[in-house]
Amino acid sequence: MRQANFLLIHHTHARQVEVARLADVASNRAERVIRRQWNRLLRVLASKAMLPHKEREVRQLLFGMPTLAGFRIAGDLTQVATWGYRSAVAGIKAGVPEPVLAELAQDKAARPVREAKEQQAKTGTLPSGKQVKFIPHGSKRKSETTVMVDPAKLDAAWQADSGYLPPESTGQPGSSEVGGRREGFKRFLETGKRVQASRVYFRPRSGNVTFDDGRHRFAVLRDKGINAVAITVPRSQAAKFLSQFGVDRHILKFDLQAVLFPAFTAAQVEGVVYRGDWQGRLHLATKLALPDHLATIITSGLVLGKTHQEIARDLRPAVQGVIVSARRIARTECLRVANKVQFDAHKQLGDLVIGYRVLATLDQHTRPWHASRSGTVYYINPGPGQKGLAQMPHPPDEADDPSERPAGTPHTAWNCRCWLVPVLRSMAGWRSLRAA
Ligand SMILES: [Zn+2]
Repeated sequence: MRQANFLLIHHTHARQVEVARLADVASNRAERVIRRQWNRLLRVLASKAMLPHKEREVRQLLFGMPTLAGFRIAGDLTQVATWGYRSAVAGIKAGVPEPVLAELAQDKAARPVREAKEQQAKTGTLPSGKQVKFIPHGSKRKSETTVMVDPAKLDAAWQADSGYLPPESTGQPGSSEVGGRREGFKRFLETGKRVQASRVYFRPRSGNVTFDDGRHRFAVLRDKGINAVAITVPRSQAAKFLSQFGVDRHILKFDLQAVLFPAFTAAQVEGVVYRGDWQGRLHLATKLALPDHLATIITSGLVLGKTHQEIARDLRPAVQGVIVSARRIARTECLRVANKVQFDAHKQLGDLVIGYRVLATLDQHTRPWHASRSGTVYYINPGPGQKGLAQMPHPPDEADDPSERPAGTPHTAWNCRCWLVPVLRSMAGWRSLRAA
Protein backbone atom coordinates (compact mmCIF):
# COMPACT_ATOMS: atom_id res chain seq x y z
CA MET A 1 0.00 0.00 0.00
CA ARG A 2 3.00 2.31 -0.30
CA GLN A 3 1.43 3.89 -3.36
CA ALA A 4 -1.91 4.33 -1.55
CA ASN A 5 -0.17 5.92 1.45
CA PHE A 6 1.61 8.32 -0.83
CA LEU A 7 -1.56 9.22 -2.71
CA LEU A 8 -3.46 9.82 0.52
CA ILE A 9 -0.81 12.24 1.77
CA HIS A 10 -0.87 14.02 -1.55
CA HIS A 11 -4.66 14.27 -1.61
CA THR A 12 -5.14 15.31 2.01
CA HIS A 13 -2.50 18.00 1.58
CA ALA A 14 -4.23 19.49 -1.45
CA ARG A 15 -7.46 19.25 0.46
CA GLN A 16 -6.04 21.02 3.50
CA VAL A 17 -5.10 23.99 1.32
CA GLU A 18 -8.74 24.20 0.23
CA VAL A 19 -9.96 23.83 3.81
CA ALA A 20 -7.79 26.76 4.87
CA ARG A 21 -9.27 28.83 2.06
CA LEU A 22 -12.84 27.93 3.06
CA ALA A 23 -11.99 28.77 6.66
CA ASP A 24 -10.84 32.23 5.57
CA VAL A 25 -14.03 32.74 3.61
CA ALA A 26 -16.16 31.74 6.60
CA SER A 27 -14.18 34.00 8.87
CA ASN A 28 -14.66 36.99 6.54
CA ARG A 29 -18.36 36.31 6.25
CA ALA A 30 -18.78 36.18 10.02
CA GLU A 31 -17.06 39.54 10.27
CA ARG A 32 -19.25 41.04 7.55
CA VAL A 33 -22.40 40.02 9.41
CA ILE A 34 -21.22 41.88 12.51
CA ARG A 35 -20.12 44.95 10.58
CA ARG A 36 -23.49 45.17 8.91
CA GLN A 37 -25.14 45.06 12.34
CA TRP A 38 -22.71 47.72 13.56
CA ASN A 39 -23.63 50.04 10.69
CA ARG A 40 -27.29 49.62 11.56
CA LEU A 41 -26.42 50.52 15.12
CA LEU A 42 -24.63 53.68 14.02
CA ARG A 43 -27.67 54.74 12.04
CA VAL A 44 -29.90 54.25 15.06
CA LEU A 45 -27.54 56.26 17.26
CA ALA A 46 -27.54 59.09 14.76
CA SER A 47 -31.29 59.03 14.33
CA LYS A 48 -33.68 61.42 15.98
CA ALA A 49 -35.58 58.63 17.74
CA MET A 50 -36.76 59.09 21.33
CA LEU A 51 -34.20 58.16 23.95
CA PRO A 52 -35.77 54.99 25.48
CA HIS A 53 -36.57 53.70 22.03
CA LYS A 54 -33.05 54.40 20.80
CA GLU A 55 -31.50 52.71 23.79
CA ARG A 56 -33.61 49.56 23.30
CA GLU A 57 -32.74 49.32 19.61
CA VAL A 58 -29.03 49.81 20.16
CA ARG A 59 -29.00 47.13 22.81
CA GLN A 60 -30.88 44.69 20.59
CA LEU A 61 -28.50 45.28 17.73
CA LEU A 62 -25.52 44.72 20.01
CA PHE A 63 -26.86 41.62 21.67
CA GLY A 64 -27.93 40.16 18.32
CA MET A 65 -24.39 40.24 16.96
CA PRO A 66 -23.16 36.90 18.27
CA THR A 67 -26.41 35.17 17.33
CA LEU A 68 -26.34 36.44 13.76
CA ALA A 69 -22.65 35.62 13.42
CA GLY A 70 -23.46 32.16 14.82
CA PHE A 71 -26.10 31.52 12.16
CA ARG A 72 -23.67 32.54 9.46
CA ILE A 73 -20.93 30.33 10.87
CA ALA A 74 -23.28 27.35 11.21
CA GLY A 75 -24.30 27.72 7.56
CA ASP A 76 -20.69 27.71 6.44
CA LEU A 77 -19.80 24.77 8.66
CA THR A 78 -22.67 22.76 7.18
CA GLN A 79 -21.23 23.35 3.73
CA VAL A 80 -17.74 22.43 4.86
CA ALA A 81 -19.05 19.21 6.45
CA THR A 82 -20.86 18.10 3.30
CA TRP A 83 -18.05 19.11 0.97
CA GLY A 84 -15.39 17.73 3.33
CA TYR A 85 -16.91 14.29 3.52
CA ARG A 86 -17.36 14.03 -0.23
CA SER A 87 -13.83 15.20 -0.84
CA ALA A 88 -12.40 12.77 1.72
CA VAL A 89 -14.27 9.88 0.09
CA ALA A 90 -12.99 10.96 -3.33
CA GLY A 91 -9.46 10.98 -1.91
CA ILE A 92 -9.84 7.46 -0.55
CA LYS A 93 -11.23 6.19 -3.83
CA ALA A 94 -8.37 7.79 -5.72
CA GLY A 95 -5.74 6.40 -3.36
CA VAL A 96 -6.87 2.96 -2.23
CA PRO A 97 -7.09 0.20 -4.89
CA GLU A 98 -10.68 -0.55 -5.83
CA PRO A 99 -10.54 -4.31 -5.15
CA VAL A 100 -9.47 -3.52 -1.58
CA LEU A 101 -12.36 -1.09 -1.13
CA ALA A 102 -14.75 -3.60 -2.68
CA GLU A 103 -13.57 -6.19 -0.21
CA LEU A 104 -14.08 -3.85 2.74
CA ALA A 105 -17.52 -2.96 1.42
CA GLN A 106 -18.38 -6.58 1.00
CA ASP A 107 -17.36 -7.33 4.57
CA LYS A 108 -19.48 -4.52 5.84
CA ALA A 109 -22.48 -5.41 3.69
CA ALA A 110 -22.19 -9.10 4.38
CA ARG A 111 -22.88 -8.66 8.05
CA PRO A 112 -26.29 -7.04 8.18
CA VAL A 113 -27.54 -7.68 4.67
CA ARG A 114 -26.27 -10.88 3.25
CA GLU A 115 -25.41 -13.32 6.00
CA ALA A 116 -28.99 -13.54 7.20
CA LYS A 117 -30.18 -14.32 3.72
CA GLU A 118 -27.33 -16.64 2.90
CA GLN A 119 -29.29 -19.86 3.21
CA GLN A 120 -32.11 -18.83 0.91
CA ALA A 121 -29.89 -16.89 -1.41
CA LYS A 122 -27.49 -19.72 -2.22
CA THR A 123 -30.00 -21.55 -4.38
CA GLY A 124 -30.01 -22.27 -8.09
CA THR A 125 -32.97 -23.40 -10.17
CA LEU A 126 -32.91 -26.03 -12.91
CA PRO A 127 -35.10 -25.62 -16.03
CA SER A 128 -37.38 -28.30 -14.54
CA GLY A 129 -38.10 -25.94 -11.65
CA LYS A 130 -36.14 -28.11 -9.27
CA GLN A 131 -34.13 -26.15 -6.71
CA VAL A 132 -30.51 -26.91 -5.91
CA LYS A 133 -29.33 -25.65 -2.56
CA PHE A 134 -25.68 -24.84 -2.04
CA ILE A 135 -23.46 -24.75 1.00
CA PRO A 136 -19.88 -23.41 1.11
CA HIS A 137 -17.07 -25.73 0.09
CA GLY A 138 -16.49 -28.35 2.78
CA SER A 139 -13.05 -27.07 3.73
CA LYS A 140 -13.77 -23.36 3.28
CA ARG A 141 -11.10 -21.21 4.87
CA LYS A 142 -11.58 -17.91 6.67
CA SER A 143 -9.87 -16.19 3.80
CA GLU A 144 -12.57 -17.49 1.46
CA THR A 145 -16.15 -16.60 0.83
CA THR A 146 -18.95 -18.13 -1.19
CA VAL A 147 -20.66 -16.16 -3.94
CA MET A 148 -23.40 -16.86 -6.48
CA VAL A 149 -22.40 -16.56 -10.13
CA ASP A 150 -23.90 -16.97 -13.55
CA PRO A 151 -22.74 -20.42 -14.82
CA ALA A 152 -22.67 -19.35 -18.49
CA LYS A 153 -20.37 -16.40 -17.76
CA LEU A 154 -18.10 -18.46 -15.53
CA ASP A 155 -17.97 -21.23 -18.16
CA ALA A 156 -16.94 -18.80 -20.88
CA ALA A 157 -13.96 -17.71 -18.79
CA TRP A 158 -13.09 -21.23 -17.68
CA GLN A 159 -12.63 -22.39 -21.29
CA ALA A 160 -9.18 -20.77 -21.36
CA ASP A 161 -8.05 -23.06 -18.52
CA SER A 162 -6.23 -26.32 -19.23
CA GLY A 163 -8.49 -28.18 -16.80
CA TYR A 164 -11.67 -27.22 -18.68
CA LEU A 165 -14.43 -29.83 -18.91
CA PRO A 166 -16.46 -29.37 -22.13
CA PRO A 167 -20.23 -29.92 -22.19
CA GLU A 168 -21.27 -33.57 -22.21
CA SER A 169 -23.12 -33.01 -25.51
CA THR A 170 -19.78 -32.58 -27.32
CA GLY A 171 -18.91 -36.17 -26.43
CA GLN A 172 -15.39 -35.03 -25.62
CA PRO A 173 -13.94 -35.60 -22.16
CA GLY A 174 -11.84 -32.84 -20.71
CA SER A 175 -8.10 -33.28 -20.23
CA SER A 176 -8.62 -33.33 -16.46
CA GLU A 177 -11.67 -35.59 -16.61
CA VAL A 178 -11.94 -38.28 -13.93
CA GLY A 179 -14.00 -41.17 -15.27
CA GLY A 180 -17.37 -41.67 -13.58
CA ARG A 181 -17.28 -38.41 -11.60
CA ARG A 182 -20.06 -36.72 -13.55
CA GLU A 183 -22.30 -39.79 -13.19
CA GLY A 184 -21.55 -39.93 -9.49
CA PHE A 185 -22.63 -36.32 -8.99
CA LYS A 186 -25.81 -36.83 -11.03
CA ARG A 187 -26.81 -39.61 -8.62
CA PHE A 188 -26.00 -37.34 -5.65
CA LEU A 189 -28.17 -34.60 -7.13
CA GLU A 190 -31.15 -37.00 -7.21
CA THR A 191 -30.99 -37.30 -3.40
CA GLY A 192 -31.92 -33.58 -3.09
CA LYS A 193 -29.11 -33.06 -0.59
CA ARG A 194 -27.35 -29.71 -0.45
CA VAL A 195 -24.43 -29.29 -2.83
CA GLN A 196 -21.04 -28.08 -1.70
CA ALA A 197 -19.85 -25.09 -3.72
CA SER A 198 -16.91 -25.69 -6.05
CA ARG A 199 -13.66 -24.02 -5.08
CA VAL A 200 -12.58 -21.59 -7.80
CA TYR A 201 -9.92 -18.92 -8.11
CA PHE A 202 -8.21 -16.64 -10.59
CA ARG A 203 -4.70 -17.86 -11.43
CA PRO A 204 -2.28 -15.19 -10.21
CA ARG A 205 -0.25 -14.86 -13.38
CA SER A 206 -2.55 -15.58 -16.30
CA GLY A 207 -5.70 -14.35 -14.56
CA ASN A 208 -7.47 -17.47 -15.88
CA VAL A 209 -10.36 -18.96 -13.94
CA THR A 210 -9.47 -22.39 -12.59
CA PHE A 211 -11.13 -25.01 -10.39
CA ASP A 212 -9.28 -26.23 -7.33
CA ASP A 213 -12.11 -28.65 -6.61
CA GLY A 214 -15.62 -29.45 -7.88
CA ARG A 215 -15.21 -29.02 -11.63
CA HIS A 216 -17.29 -32.14 -12.48
CA ARG A 217 -20.04 -30.85 -10.20
CA PHE A 218 -20.04 -27.54 -11.97
CA ALA A 219 -19.98 -29.18 -15.43
CA VAL A 220 -23.07 -31.28 -14.62
CA LEU A 221 -25.05 -28.34 -13.26
CA ARG A 222 -24.00 -26.18 -16.20
CA ASP A 223 -25.08 -28.86 -18.70
CA LYS A 224 -28.42 -29.18 -16.92
CA GLY A 225 -28.95 -25.44 -17.50
CA ILE A 226 -29.00 -24.23 -13.89
CA ASN A 227 -29.48 -20.46 -13.57
CA ALA A 228 -26.99 -19.81 -10.75
CA VAL A 229 -24.24 -21.71 -8.95
CA ALA A 230 -22.36 -21.10 -5.74
CA ILE A 231 -18.58 -21.02 -5.79
CA THR A 232 -16.19 -20.65 -2.90
CA VAL A 233 -13.49 -18.10 -3.78
CA PRO A 234 -10.69 -16.19 -2.06
CA ARG A 235 -12.14 -13.10 -0.34
CA SER A 236 -9.58 -10.98 -2.11
CA GLN A 237 -11.06 -12.08 -5.44
CA ALA A 238 -14.73 -12.08 -4.47
CA ALA A 239 -15.35 -8.60 -5.82
CA LYS A 240 -13.75 -9.54 -9.14
CA PHE A 241 -15.82 -12.73 -9.38
CA LEU A 242 -18.98 -10.82 -8.60
CA SER A 243 -18.26 -8.02 -11.03
CA GLN A 244 -17.38 -10.41 -13.88
CA PHE A 245 -19.75 -13.33 -13.30
CA GLY A 246 -22.08 -12.23 -10.51
CA VAL A 247 -25.77 -12.99 -10.69
CA ASP A 248 -26.44 -9.63 -9.15
CA ARG A 249 -23.84 -7.36 -10.62
CA HIS A 250 -25.23 -4.30 -8.92
CA ILE A 251 -23.91 -5.54 -5.57
CA LEU A 252 -20.44 -4.21 -6.22
CA LYS A 253 -21.52 -0.68 -7.05
CA PHE A 254 -24.15 -0.67 -4.33
CA ASP A 255 -21.55 -1.84 -1.84
CA LEU A 256 -18.89 0.71 -2.57
CA GLN A 257 -20.94 3.84 -2.55
CA ALA A 258 -23.83 3.15 -0.24
CA VAL A 259 -22.30 0.65 2.15
CA LEU A 260 -18.76 1.84 2.62
CA PHE A 261 -19.41 5.57 2.38
CA PRO A 262 -23.05 6.22 3.22
CA ALA A 263 -24.02 9.86 2.73
CA PHE A 264 -24.25 11.92 5.89
CA THR A 265 -27.75 12.36 7.24
CA ALA A 266 -28.90 15.85 8.18
CA ALA A 267 -28.69 14.83 11.83
CA GLN A 268 -25.08 13.69 11.43
CA VAL A 269 -24.13 16.95 9.73
CA GLU A 270 -25.76 18.87 12.54
CA GLY A 271 -23.95 16.73 15.08
CA VAL A 272 -20.62 17.60 13.48
CA VAL A 273 -21.44 21.28 13.01
CA TYR A 274 -22.53 21.97 16.58
CA ARG A 275 -19.86 19.86 18.24
CA GLY A 276 -17.40 21.52 20.51
CA ASP A 277 -19.90 24.08 21.79
CA TRP A 278 -18.48 26.94 19.76
CA GLN A 279 -21.83 28.72 20.03
CA GLY A 280 -21.47 28.80 23.78
CA ARG A 281 -17.95 30.15 23.43
CA LEU A 282 -19.06 32.76 20.93
CA HIS A 283 -21.69 34.05 23.33
CA LEU A 284 -19.33 33.85 26.25
CA ALA A 285 -16.71 35.88 24.40
CA THR A 286 -19.30 38.62 23.94
CA LYS A 287 -20.95 38.39 27.32
CA LEU A 288 -17.73 39.37 29.02
CA ALA A 289 -18.24 42.83 27.60
CA LEU A 290 -21.88 43.19 26.75
CA PRO A 291 -24.55 43.27 29.41
CA ASP A 292 -23.21 45.49 32.17
CA HIS A 293 -20.41 47.41 30.64
CA LEU A 294 -22.08 48.18 27.34
CA ALA A 295 -25.46 48.93 28.82
CA THR A 296 -23.77 51.55 30.96
CA ILE A 297 -21.97 53.03 28.00
CA ILE A 298 -25.18 53.35 26.05
CA THR A 299 -27.42 54.54 28.84
CA SER A 300 -25.05 57.02 30.40
CA GLY A 301 -23.90 58.18 27.00
CA LEU A 302 -27.42 58.92 25.90
CA VAL A 303 -28.43 60.43 29.22
CA LEU A 304 -25.34 62.61 29.42
CA GLY A 305 -26.04 63.83 25.92
CA LYS A 306 -22.87 62.48 24.33
CA THR A 307 -22.76 62.70 20.56
CA HIS A 308 -23.45 59.51 18.66
CA GLN A 309 -19.86 59.49 17.42
CA GLU A 310 -18.65 59.52 21.03
CA ILE A 311 -20.94 56.66 22.00
CA ALA A 312 -19.89 54.69 18.93
CA ARG A 313 -16.25 55.21 19.82
CA ASP A 314 -16.91 53.88 23.35
CA LEU A 315 -18.68 50.81 21.98
CA ARG A 316 -16.18 49.99 19.25
CA PRO A 317 -13.65 48.04 21.37
CA ALA A 318 -16.37 45.66 22.54
CA VAL A 319 -17.64 45.13 18.99
CA GLN A 320 -14.08 44.63 17.82
CA GLY A 321 -13.84 41.89 20.44
CA VAL A 322 -16.93 40.20 19.00
CA ILE A 323 -15.42 40.36 15.53
CA VAL A 324 -12.14 38.83 16.69
CA SER A 325 -13.94 35.99 18.51
CA ALA A 326 -16.30 35.31 15.63
CA ARG A 327 -13.47 35.24 13.09
CA ARG A 328 -11.37 32.95 15.21
CA ILE A 329 -14.25 30.60 15.91
CA ALA A 330 -15.40 30.49 12.27
CA ARG A 331 -11.88 29.70 11.13
CA THR A 332 -11.01 27.10 13.73
CA GLU A 333 -14.39 25.36 13.55
CA CYS A 334 -14.10 25.04 9.76
CA LEU A 335 -10.79 23.27 10.25
CA ARG A 336 -12.28 21.11 12.98
CA VAL A 337 -15.35 20.10 10.96
CA ALA A 338 -13.29 19.33 7.86
CA ASN A 339 -10.92 17.16 9.88
CA LYS A 340 -13.72 15.42 11.71
CA VAL A 341 -15.61 14.35 8.58
CA GLN A 342 -12.36 13.27 6.96
CA PHE A 343 -11.56 11.17 10.00
CA ASP A 344 -15.02 9.60 9.80
CA ALA A 345 -14.46 8.73 6.15
CA HIS A 346 -11.05 7.24 6.89
CA LYS A 347 -12.51 5.12 9.68
CA GLN A 348 -14.33 3.16 6.97
CA LEU A 349 -10.99 1.71 5.94
CA GLY A 350 -11.27 -0.50 9.02
CA ASP A 351 -8.36 -2.81 9.76
CA LEU A 352 -6.52 -1.53 6.73
CA VAL A 353 -5.49 1.43 8.92
CA ILE A 354 -2.69 0.84 11.42
CA GLY A 355 -2.42 4.43 12.61
CA TYR A 356 -2.46 8.09 11.66
CA ARG A 357 0.28 10.50 10.70
CA VAL A 358 -0.03 14.14 11.71
CA LEU A 359 1.17 16.69 9.18
CA ALA A 360 1.50 20.44 9.59
CA THR A 361 0.99 23.21 7.07
CA LEU A 362 4.45 24.70 7.26
CA ASP A 363 4.90 28.47 7.02
CA GLN A 364 5.77 31.39 9.25
CA HIS A 365 2.48 31.04 11.19
CA THR A 366 3.02 27.38 12.18
CA ARG A 367 3.56 26.75 15.89
CA PRO A 368 7.18 25.59 16.16
CA TRP A 369 6.25 22.49 18.12
CA HIS A 370 3.52 21.59 15.59
CA ALA A 371 6.15 21.90 12.88
CA SER A 372 8.51 19.63 14.78
CA ARG A 373 5.90 16.93 15.45
CA SER A 374 4.85 16.94 11.77
CA GLY A 375 5.28 13.43 10.36
CA THR A 376 4.78 11.64 13.67
CA VAL A 377 2.72 8.43 13.41
CA TYR A 378 0.27 7.43 16.16
CA TYR A 379 -0.48 3.70 16.15
CA ILE A 380 -3.76 1.96 16.97
CA ASN A 381 -1.69 -0.82 18.57
CA PRO A 382 1.55 0.96 19.47
CA GLY A 383 4.67 -1.13 19.87
CA PRO A 384 7.56 -0.23 22.18
CA GLY A 385 8.69 3.34 21.59
CA GLN A 386 5.67 4.14 19.42
CA LYS A 387 2.96 6.65 20.21
CA GLY A 388 -0.66 5.57 20.60
CA LEU A 389 -4.03 7.18 19.95
CA ALA A 390 -4.13 8.91 23.35
CA GLN A 391 -1.07 10.88 22.25
CA MET A 392 -2.63 11.75 18.90
CA PRO A 393 -3.91 15.29 18.31
CA HIS A 394 -7.25 15.80 16.56
CA PRO A 395 -6.47 19.12 14.91
CA PRO A 396 -7.34 21.77 15.87
CA ASP A 397 -7.66 20.00 19.23
CA GLU A 398 -4.54 18.81 20.98
CA ALA A 399 -4.11 15.25 22.25
CA ASP A 400 -5.99 14.21 25.37
CA ASP A 401 -2.64 13.36 26.91
CA PRO A 402 -1.48 16.74 28.33
CA SER A 403 2.18 15.70 28.27
CA GLU A 404 1.97 15.91 24.47
CA ARG A 405 1.95 19.72 24.53
CA PRO A 406 3.99 22.43 26.23
CA ALA A 407 2.76 23.29 29.72
CA GLY A 408 0.07 25.95 29.72
CA THR A 409 -0.94 25.36 26.08
CA PRO A 410 -4.72 25.30 25.60
CA HIS A 411 -6.54 22.16 24.42
CA THR A 412 -7.74 23.89 21.26
CA ALA A 413 -4.98 25.21 19.02
CA TRP A 414 -6.60 28.25 17.41
CA ASN A 415 -6.14 28.44 13.64
CA CYS A 416 -4.17 25.17 13.65
CA ARG A 417 -3.86 23.85 10.10
CA CYS A 418 -2.43 20.45 10.94
CA TRP A 419 -4.20 17.34 9.62
CA LEU A 420 -4.19 13.56 9.95
CA VAL A 421 -3.52 11.01 7.21
CA PRO A 422 -4.24 7.32 7.76
CA VAL A 423 -1.26 5.00 7.56
CA LEU A 424 -2.27 1.83 5.71
CA ARG A 425 -1.03 -1.66 6.43
CA SER A 426 1.12 -3.33 3.77
CA MET A 427 -0.87 -5.44 1.33
CA ALA A 428 0.86 -8.60 2.57
CA GLY A 429 0.18 -7.64 6.17
CA TRP A 430 -3.46 -7.04 5.46
CA ARG A 431 -3.84 -10.33 3.60
CA SER A 432 -2.27 -12.35 6.38
CA LEU A 433 -4.40 -10.54 8.99
CA ARG A 434 -7.56 -11.49 7.14
CA ALA A 435 -6.44 -15.04 6.47
CA ALA A 436 -5.79 -15.57 10.18
ZN1 LIG B 1 -1.09 22.81 13.97
